[in-house]
Amino acid sequence: MPRARIYMDWNATAPLLSEAREAVLSALDINGNPSSVHGEGRALRAIVESARRDVAALCGAQPAEVTFTSGATEAANMVLTPHFRMGRTPLKLGKLYVSAIEHPAVREGGRFAREMMGEIPVSSAGLVDTGALEALLGAHDRQSGLPMVAVMLANNETGIIQPIAEIAAIVRTHGGLLVVDAVQAAGRVPLSMEALGADFLIVSSHKIGGPKGAGALVARGEVMMPSPLIHGGGQEKGHRSGTENAPAIAGFAAAARMAVGNLEGRMGAIAALRDRLETEMRCQAPDVVIHGADVPRLANTTFFTLPGLKAETGQIAFDLEGVALSAGSACSSGKVGQSHVLTAMGYDPRQGALRISIGESTTQAEIEQCAAVFAKVAARRRASGQAA
Ligand code: PLP
Repeated sequence: MPRARIYMDWNATAPLLSEAREAVLSALDINGNPSSVHGEGRALRAIVESARRDVAALCGAQPAEVTFTSGATEAANMVLTPHFRMGRTPLKLGKLYVSAIEHPAVREGGRFAREMMGEIPVSSAGLVDTGALEALLGAHDRQSGLPMVAVMLANNETGIIQPIAEIAAIVRTHGGLLVVDAVQAAGRVPLSMEALGADFLIVSSHKIGGPKGAGALVARGEVMMPSPLIHGGGQEKGHRSGTENAPAIAGFAAAARMAVGNLEGRMGAIAALRDRLETEMRCQAPDVVIHGADVPRLANTTFFTLPGLKAETGQIAFDLEGVALSAGSACSSGKVGQSHVLTAMGYDPRQGALRISIGESTTQAEIEQCAAVFAKVAARRRASGQAA
């Protein structure tokens, strides 16, 4: 009998939770439009509004601050724009500063033109260079409009967690707006708009066990809102037109409820599994480089380079042994591109790195099996004379 495959690519997408699946299916069975005033419509409206409360709770925000979108990419494209409104007053932003390790959804800059963008470097440890941020904002031309800064809470490749509260204080001093991509952090670290000091937060359903195709932009106090990306019937208070995808939103909410439950206990168990795997990896290959091991990092992620082993070769070797992991982030073509995150951290990106990302349903047996595959791959590398 073929051995069951082991899924260790939760940062690409988390397996759909049964609770989320059930919520999607039951919402699919309600035949109405959430904007209709009849009973069927009101039933779906109730689901969407209850979901708004759940997603707000996940983000440590108010329900009114949540705008549903088709995912984090859309939320990023919605908020990353020079055109804002404060009530009825239009407001123009001057420039967007993004950290060098942002996910492409943010790094592409949304509706900002290239010449309106600046990059914030990171240290070799993968942390945003706050001195450089200070300098960039200090040199910002206020005449052009307010600055906007985008820094992710946790990186999708390394899992490294940024000191967002410290970054927010700098941004505030310079009168800027802070956008935080919390896609990978949601359900793994507690979120609070207030504690983070973020003006905008971005979250995605499928990274927390909900269905793909739902996400949200959370806007603190709804004080300043971006000009809509999608125009039409005025749903989501005019911020995002189009009939709400109620089934996906319902699934997103079910996953959000699970994501806030026993967070510390869940992450403690996951960290223990990840640490055990890393101990085994270091034992099998003492020269393995674990990126971000010395700074705050998500409990579920290990991003490593085995000197002499190309990430693509490693990924195929693990896959053939039944372990699904990734070489950096998954891009649409399925090809493995060079990691801009490794480049930003000052590593030679040609060799690349492998990412193992686990979650709540990962078992001890799976970790042992993965460690055994790692041992095989490391032994093969030694045999070919590539180990240091
Ligand atoms: N931001 C981060 C950090 C991500 O990891 C991802 C997904 O890979 C996204 C944004 C995009 O999310 P979505 O698939 O919901 O558009």
